[in-house]
Amino acid sequence: MMNLKICHKKNVILLKKMKLQKLKDQAYYLLCLKKKQIPYQFSESVSKKKRFLTNKYLNEPTGWVSKGYTFIETNEKPLVVVYFEPNKIISKKYNDLEKLSVTDFSTFPIRIYFNKTNWLNPPKPFIVKSNLKKKRKEMYRKYLVQHEFGHVLGFGHPSLSLQSGKCDVMLQQTKWTEPYCEANFSV
Ligand SMILES: [Zn+2]
Repeated sequence: MMNLKICHKKNVILLKKMKLQKLKDQAYYLLCLKKKQIPYQFSESVSKKKRFLTNKYLNEPTGWVSKGYTFIETNEKPLVVVYFEPNKIISKKYNDLEKLSVTDFSTFPIRIYFNKTNWLNPPKPFIVKSNLKKKRKEMYRKYLVQHEFGHVLGFGHPSLSLQSGKCDVMLQQTKWTEPYCEANFSV
């Protein structure tokens, strides 16, 4: 009986510590959003080239930086960790049958899984005008980086509707562009 009580007490303390940590993580997240400064890190598994391109696309002048956000690559207290995984792995991990990339808020730091399969070969629904064909892959990657980091900034998906002009960067353009709207990576 005595032992059980001690055990229970330890569990209560552990639970309180966990709750406190969660609150601290939440407060840190809100602080980053308020300051518009997003510290992030790459998983060790991400290649130099992918790091370089992600950093470049993240700082796209018409992207979130145009709204005053700064993205800081750091090993100290990152808010986000960036991974690149093939579709197979992401689908298995998230029961995702739609072949998408994922921003996972269930952990701290937040995890972004860029879908490597789509990164290498942009899916068919991402349609660009014929004169932009050569730039299609780059456009898709810019969209993807802006979109997933947009989730980190607190933005969700808009509803799909027929609209003229450019797609909202938060629309799932891996699934839809034309005839609803034009592929777009600007915010
Ligand atoms: Zn999304």
